[in-house]
Amino acid sequence: MDWKGAVPEFGFRHSYAEELEGFSIPWRPDRAPAPRLLRLNRDLAAELGLDVEALDGPLGAAVFSGSLLPPDARPVAQAYAGHQFGGFSSQLGDGRAVLLGELRDRAGRTVDLALKGSGATPFARRGDGKAAVGPVLREYLMGEAMAALGVPTTRALAAVATGAPVWRETQLPGAVLARVAASHIRVGTFQFFAARGEGDRVRRLLDHAIARHHPQAAEAAVPALAFLQAVAGAQARLVAQWMGLGFVHGVMNTDNMAISGETIDYGPCAFMEGYAPGTVFSSIDQTGRYAYGNQPGIAQWNLTRLAETLLPLIDADEGRAIAAARGVLEGFGPAYFAAWEGVMRAKLGLAQAQPGNQALAEALLSALEGQGADWTMTFRALAPAALGDRGPLRVLLREPLALEVWLDRWQARLATEGRPPEAVAAAIRAANPAVIPRNLAVEEALAAATAGDLAPFEALLAAVTRPFDPQPGQERYLLPDPGGLAGYRTFCGT
Ligand code: AMP
Ligand code: MG
Repeated sequence: MDWKGAVPEFGFRHSYAEELEGFSIPWRPDRAPAPRLLRLNRDLAAELGLDVEALDGPLGAAVFSGSLLPPDARPVAQAYAGHQFGGFSSQLGDGRAVLLGELRDRAGRTVDLALKGSGATPFARRGDGKAAVGPVLREYLMGEAMAALGVPTTRALAAVATGAPVWRETQLPGAVLARVAASHIRVGTFQFFAARGEGDRVRRLLDHAIARHHPQAAEAAVPALAFLQAVAGAQARLVAQWMGLGFVHGVMNTDNMAISGETIDYGPCAFMEGYAPGTVFSSIDQTGRYAYGNQPGIAQWNLTRLAETLLPLIDADEGRAIAAARGVLEGFGPAYFAAWEGVMRAKLGLAQAQPGNQALAEALLSALEGQGADWTMTFRALAPAALGDRGPLRVLLREPLALEVWLDRWQARLATEGRPPEAVAAAIRAANPAVIPRNLAVEEALAAATAGDLAPFEALLAAVTRPFDPQPGQERYLLPDPGGLAGYRTFCGT
């Protein structure tokens, strides 16, 4: 089909490619042999001011697979380095992704539009540059669930089947994800030029990142330090939200940490069902480095790697630079706990920030240890408990009375606020999702989609994008797998 002339301009700008010479390589995505739109995110497309009707069909399939570019697109593959599982790789980069350009959304925010799975770039090393339908739809589903849960995240604009096969352990249908992000600047982007000793380029990246994400840092006495502080604050708030939801990112390498504070790169991520701090899903995380309970500490570790790249920009005297950076990094713990207290306060239906909140939340976690209780259902069951019915909570526990002492303490704390129980229960239901993308339902939906049936994916997507408000017919999404999916394993999105 010849679409020449039919592709509209998107209104792209190219500040990354223009301001940061040497940070990316112009690269044309591959043409897909038979692109077919699996899904267009119509709401997001409208937010971006795109022509939703024109794009929800063959034209969108051609554009979002990279087969046909808007006339103002200037695709580039971005360079970055990164610590993967603690080991440094000086050369990663977009092996199978291209940035098409930046768009201004209806709210005036600048966002990147990128394609992932659109063919091998010069950064691909041994990779094939492709993505399969399953992992592409997994990223779509997880990102939309997180957005609906109020978590900062990159989002899927479209998923397109390419019509070409991808070889993994077996042959799979290939796909491309069109992804929107506040930016794709990662901790690893800073590491790329810092590791090469190119301080001027790190400074240019810093200026760009400050202007784009943390403009107030430009006014500070030491912008690099204020920037580090702002990134640390954004990560503290992000990881606190993950922890509140039982979200396990799974591959918190420094190249998978966005300096915008958005969740990025949904590879092997999954939601914890039974509460256990050591929960790991990723098949390649054999030591549990990225286990649920390790995530705040890993965020701080990654921020330390970011700080190292900024030292020469913080102070010409290395000793003074290190001392200043250490001050910011030591503030991460308190910032994280302050954010976590806020998350947990809401989950517990408490309205007031009081000194005992953190201890109360920690006491709940201790009491839940070893109970095998489903994380999501436990918090949802606090709503009936606030109304005097502890039954729904007790049935979730190995020892049904294990939480009684804690519940008495919690209700005494609630009583100090004097809110009517109905208001407390409503607040609990508004802060704790009923529906999350549960592992079994996700696997079923992706397997069906891979075999050509998108109906389970659509049904699950509809449920997880209204997480606080389950609808009739969605009951199966509310329950964990009865077998607990023992040994459930996820794989990197390749
Ligand atoms: P990830 O584990 O997805 O964060 O990717 C780590 C690095 O491997 C990045 O540089 C990716 O661009 C690259 N990569 C992952 N999968 C592929 C693939 N199939 N082809 C080429 N590069 C890939
Ligand atoms: Mg990645």
